[in-house]
Amino acid sequence: MSRGRPLLAAVAVLGFASASLADSLAARREYVMGTIAEVRVHAVRPGADPERAIEAAMGEIHAVDRLMAVQRPDSDVSRLNRGAATRAVTVDHRVIEVLRASRRLSELTDGAFDVTVLPTVRAWGFLSGRPRRPRQAPRPAGYRHVRIDAAHDAVAFDQDDVGIDFGGIAKGYALDRARTAMLRHGVRSAYLDLGGNVATLGSAPDGGPWRLGIRHPRRPDALLGVLEVGEAAVSTSGDAERFVEDEQGRAGHVIDPLTGRPADALVSATVVAASATLADGLSTAAVVMGREAFADLLPRVGARAVLVELGHDGRPIPWIGPGLRLHTAPAPGRAPELPSHD
Ligand code: AMP
Ligand code: MG
Repeated sequence: MSRGRPLLAAVAVLGFASASLADSLAARREYVMGTIAEVRVHAVRPGADPERAIEAAMGEIHAVDRLMAVQRPDSDVSRLNRGAATRAVTVDHRVIEVLRASRRLSELTDGAFDVTVLPTVRAWGFLSGRPRRPRQAPRPAGYRHVRIDAAHDAVAFDQDDVGIDFGGIAKGYALDRARTAMLRHGVRSAYLDLGGNVATLGSAPDGGPWRLGIRHPRRPDALLGVLEVGEAAVSTSGDAERFVEDEQGRAGHVIDPLTGRPADALVSATVVAASATLADGLSTAAVVMGREAFADLLPRVGARAVLVELGHDGRPIPWIGPGLRLHTAPAPGRAPELPSHD
């Protein structure tokens, strides 16, 4: 039984690769935002150019990366983090848009989502690629200390220790922009994947729903199950990709802003929503909030979710929220899409 699963995943990966070649009018994979972006166009309006649509979509993702990567000293977010505690800093309107979306998410999630986690994320080394449990880590200052002047595209911090990190939301936002660019270029069916965040347009190549493989939170080569969704955005967060593992156990890269420590309420959270920005932010928040609190929130934000806890025996216990089904085995010839992860 336990030997069957990796085989299933391997079949799914192979099926996925061949399906993408056979079914798409155009496709591209690029390294951006610290992960792999994959964009595939399956159907366009008569006369539309799928290659130009992909070009435009990738352009949007690269633009968000240039503005919002804390690893880039010349990004708008780095300029903010250097200067906004002493004076108001003018930024691109897209940064204002993400800051406002972040604030809404913070309010909706009672502060579980908080973009001021940068000092804590840094202390744990999650930006360095070599994370380590620190002796001490600062608690995030809190989103309320970020003043947004939307009329002037300006931002100021009202405390010294504020540091913004858009890692929990920027990929979703980039996907929303990429998807809109595709629509503008006449795309009717497309699959966009940015490091565990997926957005779809229209229906799958076979005319049915998109089938998305949800990775097993502890076995990189296995699937927890397959979700079927229409035009939607799907985002997974958890401790499977970036974490510290030592004698004290596993600590993932999602920070509980209240304690300043890695959140451990869930090992994985997959959120399905209309907007990728929302799905991305909410899946991050879910890891902090845990099953009960996040399940209560779902109807208020118009999202669906699969939330995974770890049982005492180390096995994942999935909770499948209303409106979703987690299919166990991919039907022959209908391999699920497997989001690539960073
Ligand atoms: P995701 O993979 O979308 O869940 O994003 C995880 C990333 O979001 C982390 O690597 C941090 O950059 C950032 N982050 C961590 N904790 C939080 C939080 N509580 N709220 C917002 N962003 C966070
Ligand atoms: Mg997120």
